[in-house]
Amino acid sequence: MQQIRGGFLNPFDLAQILSFQAFWGFCQHNPWQMKLFYAATHIQTLPTGHRFPMGKYELLRQRLAAEMPQLSLHLADAASEGELALVHTPLYIEAVFQGSLPFAAQREIGFPWSEGMVERARRSVGATVMAARTAFQEGLAANLAGGTHHAYADKGGGFCVFNDVAVAARLMQAEWSRHQRRSLQVAVIDLDVHQGNGTAHIFRDDPSVFTLSLHGAKNFPFRKEASDIDVELPDGCSDVPYLEALEEALRQLQDRCAPDLVFYLAGADPHEGDRLGRLNLSFEGLKQRDRCVLAWAQERRMPLAMAMAGGYGKQIEDTVEVQMNTFAQALAAWQGWQNQPL
Ligand SMILES: [Zn+2]
Repeated sequence: MQQIRGGFLNPFDLAQILSFQAFWGFCQHNPWQMKLFYAATHIQTLPTGHRFPMGKYELLRQRLAAEMPQLSLHLADAASEGELALVHTPLYIEAVFQGSLPFAAQREIGFPWSEGMVERARRSVGATVMAARTAFQEGLAANLAGGTHHAYADKGGGFCVFNDVAVAARLMQAEWSRHQRRSLQVAVIDLDVHQGNGTAHIFRDDPSVFTLSLHGAKNFPFRKEASDIDVELPDGCSDVPYLEALEEALRQLQDRCAPDLVFYLAGADPHEGDRLGRLNLSFEGLKQRDRCVLAWAQERRMPLAMAMAGGYGKQIEDTVEVQMNTFAQALAAWQGWQNQPL
């Protein structure tokens, strides 16, 4: 509530209202740009030599800003404790916020604790939430990071603190249920090369969220959870068998579920140049992968929120190139959605 002091609106409050309205006006009424949301990565500093390629996010943001003017980039709000609690246990949230996780639990996440780590994790969840809300209005929107699918309700793992897609799915269901008589059906299409174990576990008894994961059979996590559909791929899997497996998985998904909202984890780590991927997909194969998923959703007019998930290229530029290609495909799909008759 804004306060009126002495009968006049405080100029500072007025400026805040105007800037907020300008921001929302820009976000909601600029019909020419697809919206992307990001969590500033400079807030989390890692020790020299840390194996997580944090620099890829800034490289991606710079290239997108320079090369794709049809995209608009927005700093995401941080997810609140209440939003996180739609998925995560209060004890886990509190321990992350306070930096009081046991040593082994912090080591499993793979990042040293810092206030910046917490802030980035919260904003990354916020970016997927904002992408999902925008997708309902515009068909497609994305988080420049996110896809932190190894996070469970009560623990993190594999560079994942909170599970952004799980929180966004539950929050969209809560918002939807205020206006609709039936629950929002969600599908998670997880094409990161590592299994979405946290997501699968969180939704294992929840038929309103359908989980599909295509991943390397012999890759992390070594103890896998049961998704609704799991497709395990052999080491060295190349474009053709991968794309055939994807098409078959989407056919099965379609037979079993009619989603109102799709989350797509477009991991760059199935690429042949990835340090951790163990698969052999080419740049062109990954473009076809993205087109396949985006066209599948668009033909059925399903809103889609995209997250980037993993990417650990031997050359960081290769990871960013895969992601740039993904955004080019996404932009084409977004433009197609705007031109499609309702
Ligand atoms: Zn991965």
